[in-house]
Parts: sequence; structure tokens; C-alpha cells
Amino acid sequence: HDLRNEDLKDLHELGQGNGGSVKKVEHLPTGTIMAKKIVLIDAKPSVRKQILRELQIMHDCHSDYIISFYGAFISDPNICICMEYMDKGSLDGIYKKIGPIDIDVVGKVALAVLEGLTYLYDVHRIIHRDIKPSNILFNSRGQIKICDFGVSGELINSIADTFVGTSTYMSPERIQGAQYTVKSDVWSLGISLIELALGRFPFAESSSDDSDLSDFEGTLSPSRPHPALSLTKEQKDKKKKRKSKGVSLQGGGMTMSILELLQHIVNEPAPRLTPEGRFPKEADDFVDSCLLKDPDARKTPKDLLKHSWIERSRTATIDLEAWASTF
Ligand code: ATP
Ligand code: MG
Repeated sequence: HDLRNEDLKDLHELGQGNGGSVKKVEHLPTGTIMAKKIVLIDAKPSVRKQILRELQIMHDCHSDYIISFYGAFISDPNICICMEYMDKGSLDGIYKKIGPIDIDVVGKVALAVLEGLTYLYDVHRIIHRDIKPSNILFNSRGQIKICDFGVSGELINSIADTFVGTSTYMSPERIQGAQYTVKSDVWSLGISLIELALGRFPFAESSSDDSDLSDFEGTLSPSRPHPALSLTKEQKDKKKKRKSKGVSLQGGGMTMSILELLQHIVNEPAPRLTPEGRFPKEADDFVDSCLLKDPDARKTPKDLLKHSWIERSRTATIDLEAWASTF
């Protein structure tokens, strides 16, 4: 049956992103609780209809690791996308609430995302394009599912026009203008996993630019931490003042402008779990293989499903339903 806006009762807002907002709603005729994403699209009616047509592919996406789709419609000037409601929200919200996420749970997240990506690509030739903690959702049944994948080329184009986002999960090759591939999603997964395990965005404290290097010339050594990671309080304050002129990326701590961050991703070694030194070696190794800077060397989601950490995560008997009940 076709969904109609009149049949949906707004309950409350679940969150806001760059493209629009998401509301918890009730579908009155059936009593189904749904998440309604409202995307403002400044496009001709013909383009909107095209987007709507393209979104219909989501009706054919059936996987335990993909958010279910109820339907989409135009509600001028918006496009509304109705999807399965996940009552524990997205993983960014969860770690911001409870702190760093246990590495065994992170392993289950990695497994679920790889399964979801493999399904989308193998069955529908869809590349996700926006893997990040806010697009990985969790519910009280202990399920982990991905949402907001790039099914509609027209929708991607329309949103790209109004781009204001922090494209900070973007792979080095994408930043340099290469085509999207499933391997770009693998990079984004690696960044997301570090963020969940550390409880913070991995690039937030690791800014480096030329002026930093000149501040610290002569102190660079492979055995020493990167100078930008070991600034004194005074230096950090100075840096903060300088940075605040640019676009601020992260609340708290040091900030980096978008341009600095993109340069950093392209030019500096990829972040790792290891320096914190508290995770299983297999997890470190998995994250490293997601974050190989050369996309030719990086594996696909399907190949990564065979990684020993993922195999171990698959058989791990951690009770996600019980974990969900703790927050
Ligand atoms: P961006 O716009 O940069 O992609 P985002 O993913 O946070 O950021 P939205 O996709 O608009 O932005 O989602 C906003 C918030 O709504 C999410 O962070 C998530 O917490 C919540 N949300 C989205 N979809 C659902 C859902 N199906 N069930 C429950 N909560 C959801
Ligand atoms: Mg989202």
C-alpha cells in the first residue's frame, strides 16, 4: 500500500543531519512505528519524481543488516523516506552517551556492516557511500543495521549541491577525485570502528600543518609520537586560537578546518587502534587493513568477512540484547 503523509502521526524528533531531519512517527492505519526522514530537495518536480522512482529499489532490499523500507513520497517541498525505527538510535549517539564501546561489540558492528555492504553490492550493485556511526543503527533486540545508502543517483546529486557536511569519513582516493568503489566504504568503516572503540573521532587530536612542523623542527623521529600529538597546554591554546578562524569540526579539544582534515587524510599515515595499546591484535590488524591508503591494496567487504577477527566476532557469544538493556 502507498504511504500517505496524512496517515502518519508525528511523535517526536529523532535527530537532525545535513540533509534534513528524522522523526519518529506512527502509521495510524496499522499502528506501525516508523522513522520518517524528511529531505528538503531544491529540485524540479521531474527530478523529484525520478528520485522517488530510484528509491523504490529499497523495497527489494531484504537483509538482517539493512534497515527495512516502508515507502517514500513527496510532500512539497520535501521528500519523505519511511523506514524501520531502531529504538536504540545510531552508534554515534550511543558512544556519546556511554563512552567508548567494548571491542567485542565493535567486532559485531564490523561484522554487521560488512554483511550489509556485501549484500547491497552482491545483490543490488549498490555502494553505500556514507558509512559512519550515525548511519549504523541499533535496537533493543540487539540488531545492528545500516541505513542511508546511496540508492538514488539523483538524490546524491541533489544533496551534493547543498553540501555542507563534514565529509570526514571519506577515503583518500575519494578526496582526490577517484570514483566511488566498495573499497571506499571499507575505509569509512575503519574510521568508524576506531571512533567507536576510542569514543572519539580519530582525527580530532592529530592535526598537523606546516606551521606545526616548523614549530617542532628537529623533533621528528619515528620512535617519538608525532609532535602534533604531544603539544603542551600553551601550544594547544595557541593552536586553538589559530584554528578557530577555520571551520570547526569537532566540539571540545582541538579543531581542524575541513581543508586541513582532508589534506591530513591524504598526506598523513592512516589512524590506528594500536597506539592506545589496549585492543586484541586481530582487531588492530583488521582496522589496519580497512585503512590501507592504496585502494588497490585494500580488500572488499566480501573478502574482509574472512578476516580472523570477523570470524571470531561471528562466533562470539556476546549478548547484544543484554548490552542494549544497559543504556
Ligand atoms: P548526516 O546528515 O551527516 O548524514 P546523520 O546521519 O546524523 O548525519 P540523518 O540521517 O538525518 O543525519 O539522521 C539524524 C539522526 O536520526 C541520526 O543521527 C540517528 O540518530 C537518527 N535516526 C536516523 N534514522 C533512524 C532510524 N531508522 N531509527 C532511529 N533513529 C534514526
Ligand atoms: Mg544518516
